[in-house]
Amino acid sequence: MPLVPMTAFAEDAKKHKYAVGQFNLNNLEFTQAITEAAAEEKSPVIFGVSEGAMRYMGLEYTVAMAKAAAETSGVPIALHLDHGSSFEVVMKCIRAGFSSVMFDGSHYPLEENIRLTKQVVEAAHAVGVSVEGELGTIGGVEDDLSVDEKDAALANPADAIRFWEETKVDYMAIAVGTAHGMYKGEPKISFEIIDEVARNIAAPIVLHGGSGVPDEAIKKSIQFGVGKINVNTENQVACTAKIREILAAKPNEIDPRKYLGPAREAIKEVVKGKIRLFGSNNRI
Ligand SMILES: [Zn+2]
Repeated sequence: MPLVPMTAFAEDAKKHKYAVGQFNLNNLEFTQAITEAAAEEKSPVIFGVSEGAMRYMGLEYTVAMAKAAAETSGVPIALHLDHGSSFEVVMKCIRAGFSSVMFDGSHYPLEENIRLTKQVVEAAHAVGVSVEGELGTIGGVEDDLSVDEKDAALANPADAIRFWEETKVDYMAIAVGTAHGMYKGEPKISFEIIDEVARNIAAPIVLHGGSGVPDEAIKKSIQFGVGKINVNTENQVACTAKIREILAAKPNEIDPRKYLGPAREAIKEVVKGKIRLFGSNNRI
């Protein structure tokens, strides 16, 4: 099937209390691993593409890979811009074939974030593309984004509710204590914020920085209204650990397929585990 917007599975996820995973594309092997995992688990899935990954892979290659994956997988796949930084980059992705976009205006004052996000929603909805907005500041490092722990700020629930009422984004990312990248300790998630916002808006909540969050906290957050969870770091760790292991054992190996193939399997296993944890398996 063709690429779908994230609204294609939002209602089913809400009704049956599961979350759909966003797994970021880094190259061909990531694309294949995520697709195979989703197909085997009969789960919808979201390909996340950061601006950095887009520069690395090339916009045309990214869309072509995602389309090929969607057409052969037999499961609904959304191709989603992760942390889009401007109206221009959002439009570039939509024109190239993305089925979903995130506009991250979280570093702007609330009024400005609302105004800019509304523009994105209007343009995207006109062509059937879903939109994720963000409020609050998620800490950690992800590609071009780097937020110091001391500058990370949880979302104010009243502001988040107002943001949704005025923008009508399809998915709402709010900072609730998770962070991008690897955690030093255990993240402290504010379930109260998730609960209060989820009760008052129709859009599912998005949890960024899903790597390394304990299983119980993930399950609890889904019960409170999280409908999308982003994972990238754990896949990168599994991929690179496998390549290190193979090259350490066989220093003379020169065929990239001999280490990228097993790395792809390692990523696939992580994704399958997350899909089951999020409860989106056997929903297709
Ligand atoms: Zn993020």
